[in-house]
Amino acid sequence: MKKAAFLDRDGVINRKAPAGEYVTRWEEMEFLPGTREAVRLLRRAGFLVVVVSNQRCVAKGLITASALESMHERMRREFAAAGAIIDAIYYCPHENAPPCGCRKPQPGMLLQAARDHDIDLAASWMIGDSGRDVGAGRAAGCHTALVTGNDDRSHRAAEAGADLVASSLLDATHQILQVEAALPSVTRSVSR
Ligand SMILES: [Mg+2]
Ligand SMILES: [Zn+2]
Repeated sequence: MKKAAFLDRDGVINRKAPAGEYVTRWEEMEFLPGTREAVRLLRRAGFLVVVVSNQRCVAKGLITASALESMHERMRREFAAAGAIIDAIYYCPHENAPPCGCRKPQPGMLLQAARDHDIDLAASWMIGDSGRDVGAGRAAGCHTALVTGNDDRSHRAAEAGADLVASSLLDATHQILQVEAALPSVTRSVSR
């Protein structure tokens, strides 16, 4: 079994659209600083890198599933060109209601990825910028990291119940690698 780093997309890999808006065109896809390096470091440390993203803009008709998938393929190519391999991308195209099993904080995308890629969820991390991401990670039995940008970090961490709080994906990655280095026995005990 492999361990995975599950990454939220908007607000973690790329700059989030303003509230109520969505990234629906490649021109709006602005990668945040250090994200390629973070993916390189995570893969070098033995993590599969799996993006899990709520994209209800599909249900809203703002983008088609195939256009979204093309954008994701282009994102993977751009990262791969920098030596940063994204192993898989999952998205939930559904609206809030009726409820589906894949829209975070439901763990459906993580569970599906675990089945598809033989992932040890207890040895894996969910890294996201919202309570929904942390909720999905916890529901799947993963460790969780909350990326807060420049917000008040300790307050938001307590609120979301995340295991660690970071200012960016790269900061979260450094902290996770430190935790793993300090506690190798924990990683071993869950990788049965
Ligand atoms: Mg997000
Ligand atoms: Zn869904």
